Amino acid sequence: MTGALLRIDNLSCRFGGLWANRDVSFEVEPGAIVGLIGPNGAGKSTLFSMVAGAQRPTSGRLEFDGRDVTGWAPHRAARAGVGRTFQLMRVFGSMTVRENLTTAAFGRHSRLRDARRRADEVAELAGLGPVLDSPAASLTAAWKKRLEMGRALATEPKLLLLDEVLSGLTPTEAREAVEIVRTINRGGVTILMVEHVMEVIMPLCHRVVVLHYGQKISEGTPEQVAHDPTVVEAYLGK
Ligand code: ADP
Ligand code: MG
Repeated sequence: MTGALLRIDNLSCRFGGLWANRDVSFEVEPGAIVGLIGPNGAGKSTLFSMVAGAQRPTSGRLEFDGRDVTGWAPHRAARAGVGRTFQLMRVFGSMTVRENLTTAAFGRHSRLRDARRRADEVAELAGLGPVLDSPAASLTAAWKKRLEMGRALATEPKLLLLDEVLSGLTPTEAREAVEIVRTINRGGVTILMVEHVMEVIMPLCHRVVVLHYGQKISEGTPEQVAHDPTVVEAYLGK
């Protein structure tokens, strides 16, 4: 595929004797929503960390937006346009939602006025209006996940990495969050998302990549992947 936004090429990450990722290759085309799935410990979050510059690959290559970004520091990756949420939320609890968004927007804007404007735009996109003045610590899990998305979005990413932003939500909350993901994508942001819940990711994603024990075992349309015997076996644990 030419013109991929993200090209992951034979990427590996070893922690001592454990290969969290091993020779993983796939591409994310601009404008897509790509799902990254796999059982617990498959290496999904580690892959995100490498793409976001928080974890140095043991080997392999990462290309983002036409540039070799392998081993870049997190702030450089963010500046290049990689935004991410964390599986464990890292919001500032004593700050309000608006302050959290404004702080995140400072990554892109150096003037307070511009950061505030971006925070307001993001609040609108992520549906955070009703809780703008609440301290982040007082939010429910569902609102905190929205805030995590909002914070990542505030950095104006070209690629947004979403790590389990739907997990732990009620079905209604999950549906609302899915709509937010769709809205963000329609706004021109390419999305790579890790999710456990197959039923949620299937209708949302254009393409799905499956990791198992650090290796890519399948890739295709949601339909293809769901019917791939290798995937079914991995999920059933044999
Ligand atoms: P997933 O997100 O798919 O559940 P992770 O990427 O979090 O998987 O973890 C993949 C494997 O790498 C797991 O076995 C995990 O224990 C291990 N791992 C992740 N981060 C580290 C680390 N910083 N040091 C050592 N082992 C790690
Ligand atoms: Mg994870």
